[in-house]
Amino acid sequence: MNALLHEYAAVAGEDTIDQLLQLAEPLKGMKVAHVNSTRVGGGVAEILTKLVPLQRELGMDAHWEIVLGKNEFYQCTKLFHNALQGRTAVVPESLLKAYEETNAQNAEEHRALLRDADIVFIHDPQPAALLRYIPERKGKWVWRCHIDASHPQRQVWKYLSGFIAGYDASVFSLADFAQMLPHPVYLIPPSIDPLSEKNRELSEKEVRETCERYHIDPDRPMMLQVSRFDRFKDPLGVIQAYRLAKAFIPPLQLVLAGGGADDDPEGDLVLAEVQAAVKDDPDAHVLFLPSDAHRTINALQRAAYFVLQKSVREGFGLTVAEALWKGKPVIGGDTGGIRLQVVNHHTGFLVDSPEGAALRIRYLLHHHDKLVEMGRKAHEFVRENFLITRQLREYLTLMVALLHGAGDRVVLE
Ligand code: UDP
Repeated sequence: MNALLHEYAAVAGEDTIDQLLQLAEPLKGMKVAHVNSTRVGGGVAEILTKLVPLQRELGMDAHWEIVLGKNEFYQCTKLFHNALQGRTAVVPESLLKAYEETNAQNAEEHRALLRDADIVFIHDPQPAALLRYIPERKGKWVWRCHIDASHPQRQVWKYLSGFIAGYDASVFSLADFAQMLPHPVYLIPPSIDPLSEKNRELSEKEVRETCERYHIDPDRPMMLQVSRFDRFKDPLGVIQAYRLAKAFIPPLQLVLAGGGADDDPEGDLVLAEVQAAVKDDPDAHVLFLPSDAHRTINALQRAAYFVLQKSVREGFGLTVAEALWKGKPVIGGDTGGIRLQVVNHHTGFLVDSPEGAALRIRYLLHHHDKLVEMGRKAHEFVRENFLITRQLREYLTLMVALLHGAGDRVVLE
């Protein structure tokens, strides 16, 4: 077993790694391509950063490409994103044209790889139209949807499904999101990498120093939300909950840490609103972090008493798994993938309003023993369900099934 896989065995168990090696055997040498729209920022980039090297370690010829476009393309895909997550959005014809043209240009750019790859994973709507421009493709194509598509705006879904219907399979994060499509639909929840800079153990010294660097008092309770500045993450609702709780617990501090993503044009506006909302409060810190601030986020998650993810829509919420892994209960919006991870009263609390969140904040600050117990359960829950080794196993199983067809027998040695 090579060194990297050996490291995962120490966290996830030898059996898990043995399974991966067996599943990867029939896939050795296969050309696999992943395509999304950003290398940094957001959950998809976070996952691919590790998934692709691991597929290589297991003997596949794995590649990761991104589609690039101009402003109009990102405006269009942000509207798609909003509409798929249930918000009303009217997408003008001119933006749809930019979407199709950008996909056509990117198809040209990556034609050789996409034509020849045995399996292509297209992540989210941004590159979904590529398939149309590679009619000579040789391999199987999978559309991987990471967002909460449980109540998509019909017109936008109709438009996008015109592209997606041509794929060989789709993957959604949970059953509630799955849509009717004329091909097999699989469910694979995302995962975190326990060995990454974002999630590995850190010394207490480093955690304290990180707090001090940002003028956070490490000796007073601090609650944290890590998110892109996006309305679906409800940062203003978090501030409201913090204010309600702070009236009862004056030492409480709030940290809202986030950055932008290359493919998200709305971030600056939301950041400005958040900054304005806390500008008179020295205990409320808004940190705009660079996209490679993984260790800082790790330290902040470890410094927090507990973590919030008060999203009103959430595909999965990697930030939830990251916090749970660090033994922090999560107060999360009762929506999408947060429901998979926050087991109410066990690994955290599900909430629907700032008032509900404030109530749970006060509860956790007053019941330290409960907070510790929930944190212990939270860590174990992630170890069993949301580590990258589990997600990789499910991807490999899907790949074996697709490449060998339902009728073939796959013999694993
Ligand atoms: N993240 C980060 N820097 C930031 C904000 C977020 O590295 O400033 C990371 C975060 O730790 C998590 C991912 O980006 O790993 C966000 O994934 P999630 O599924 O929570 O939300 P998404 O942004 O995909 O909607």
